[in-house]
Amino acid sequence: MTDIWVFVQLRDGEIEDTTFGLVTEAKRLLKQASDSGRITAVALGPASYSDLETLGHCGVDRVLWMNDEQLTRYQGEIFGRALLDLVQKKSPTCLLMAQSPETEDLAQRVAAGLQTALVTRAVDFHLGDDGTAAAVRPVANGYLFEDLTLNTQPAPIVLFLPAVLFDTTPELETAAPVTPIPAPHSADDLRTRTVEVIEAAPEDLDLEEADIIIAGGRGVGKDGAFDIILSLARAIGGSVGGTRPVIDWGTLPYERQIGQTGKYVSPRLIINCGISGANEYTAGMEKSHQIIAIDRNPRARMFRFADLGIVGDVHEILPLLISRIEGRK
Ligand SMILES: Cc1cc2nc3c(=O)[nH]c(=O)nc-3n(C[C@H](O)[C@H](O)[C@H](O)COP(=O)(O)OP(=O)(O)OC[C@H]3O[C@@H](n4cnc5c(N)ncnc54)[C@H](O)[C@@H]3O)c2cc1C
Repeated sequence: MTDIWVFVQLRDGEIEDTTFGLVTEAKRLLKQASDSGRITAVALGPASYSDLETLGHCGVDRVLWMNDEQLTRYQGEIFGRALLDLVQKKSPTCLLMAQSPETEDLAQRVAAGLQTALVTRAVDFHLGDDGTAAAVRPVANGYLFEDLTLNTQPAPIVLFLPAVLFDTTPELETAAPVTPIPAPHSADDLRTRTVEVIEAAPEDLDLEEADIIIAGGRGVGKDGAFDIILSLARAIGGSVGGTRPVIDWGTLPYERQIGQTGKYVSPRLIINCGISGANEYTAGMEKSHQIIAIDRNPRARMFRFADLGIVGDVHEILPLLISRIEGRK
């Protein structure tokens, strides 16, 4: 029987939206499968039992839940062993995950343990009925796309870019049965241990974790001109992101790119400076809770997404904003 596994992305015990996007993908794959099949959601770590049950409303047939004190905080070796053990015992057809720093690490561990195919940054995935599967992923920072074919034995692991995942509408009344699964290994034989957890400076914080993001685009300018974005980030306690031109210049590293071929972010506040709002950029940040846009072109597409829009030169507005923020400290 086709058994599509969806990895439940949890943040502080809450199910992240990308999980529902994966369920949408799983439903699409099931429709194309020759048998009726089922969707299994797999959760590792603390979560609400009732939240897991409600995945059934979106079409999940069952939930496998491993919760253990070792799984409270992400630790690659522990999570990797736990998920590998589960996949080896239950033999799913494939395992779908949403791309994030943690799943990137986790998927590689499980794929290595299984000796199976792994596709990262996927934008499309199909199961064939001849023991093969196909996937598409962007390469060269979105300038090219790669078509891949892979074997389906053992189960391939596919990490979807969050920007291509779309929520599923709850359609059913049925709760999914949640099966608690014991964690397989004790911590005694671990090869790596977390000794200390060090908080990052806000401007260095991973974009996907950040509460506030200051994003700069081509309109801010290269090199020294971009320092104004860093200054605002330090003043407000935000992380720094950019559009593709800023990454192409080398002003910010690739891990700071927001958008379809970069990071998918949903902070509490994002301030977009000198960014026109191209589709490929907004796809990566439109789920942010509060959006501010600063651009000198009043017709910039970015303003369509903004809760607050400021028309003007970033190099005039940002120094004023920074001095106001500093003045209130
Ligand atoms: C397959 C593919 C994938 C892509 N993936 C991504 C992606 O992941 N992320 C991404 O960002 N892009 C991506 N792009 C590129 C995207 O299409 C846009 O080209 C890019 O987002 C534009 O970046 P920008 O807004 O910084 O630059 P521009 O579009 O050039 O906009 C600059 C803005 O700055 C304003 N401005 C200029 N000077 C000032 C000033 N002094 N003060 C205030 N405003 C000023 C201008 O009015 C303008 O609105 C992708 C493209 C393709 C084809």
